[in-house]
Amino acid sequence: MLASAAGDALGAPVEFLDLAMIVERFGGTGIRDLAPAYGRLGAVTDDTQMAIATARGLIDARSGRADEADAVLERYFAWLDSQADPAQVRGPGNTCIAGIEAQRRARIERAENDSKGCGGVMRVHPCGLYFAGNARAAFDLGWVTADLTHGHRTSGASSGAQAALVAQLVTGSTLDEALGVVLELLEERDPNLETLASVQNAMGLAAQGAPASSALDVIGQGWIAEEALAAGVYCLLRFADDPLEGLIASVNHSGDSDSTGAIAGALLGAHRGAEWIPAGWLDELEHRDLLEDLATALHDG
Ligand SMILES: [Mg+2]
Repeated sequence: MLASAAGDALGAPVEFLDLAMIVERFGGTGIRDLAPAYGRLGAVTDDTQMAIATARGLIDARSGRADEADAVLERYFAWLDSQADPAQVRGPGNTCIAGIEAQRRARIERAENDSKGCGGVMRVHPCGLYFAGNARAAFDLGWVTADLTHGHRTSGASSGAQAALVAQLVTGSTLDEALGVVLELLEERDPNLETLASVQNAMGLAAQGAPASSALDVIGQGWIAEEALAAGVYCLLRFADDPLEGLIASVNHSGDSDSTGAIAGALLGAHRGAEWIPAGWLDELEHRDLLEDLATALHDG
């Protein structure tokens, strides 16, 4: 939760900048430290707000109040209401907003749109903490949670894969074991295989030692689900021994930097904990205490 929020906050000032503009503003090595966004240092965006809502919903569900997806949706309703406060508006995705509004009018299992924006993937890592060690259950829960707002199967598959990776990594699986389980789940559950191809592409680029800037260029900009997931997987595999470099790499590209930062951060954090996050970043990070509390409650609950 913390590493994902740190990636989100690191990427927030450059979400809408291409790489040339990032370099112009932050120098040749790109953005490497928190910079102001939304009027403060350490501001998170809609990605972390919605991950917090997911975590809260799952904690509600665990206490027996409702089925998981319904409990998460209740918290998404509250998040939607929070968007009436201008200070809380952090670049929310249109599909998320429209999807939650539609759910409020009539509850449906899968959103009636064909969107595979990354708005599902970015918010489902709490599902991996909730089902820590049970990749299969985490995969299914990540998928149905994404389905609340995004109707395309690739959004569901990529979100399921993200949740399953977190569920594996957080219980100490090796990278090979975690990826192996997720590839199997994708082959078994996702008929259109876009996510599988994207993850395999990321694995190949990391295995070749492809430099981050060119690898992330090949993977795509991360506005869509399977590209955002693949960017996270590449950064996890390539920088497993240096997670801070991985987090920095995950936001320095021309695409959806806060979301790829949030997704890579969730994976790097599940694999390596939070000790590597600079103390100065944690001091500035919005919702830091809440994020820690939610992670502990989900994982130990
Ligand atoms: Mg965002």
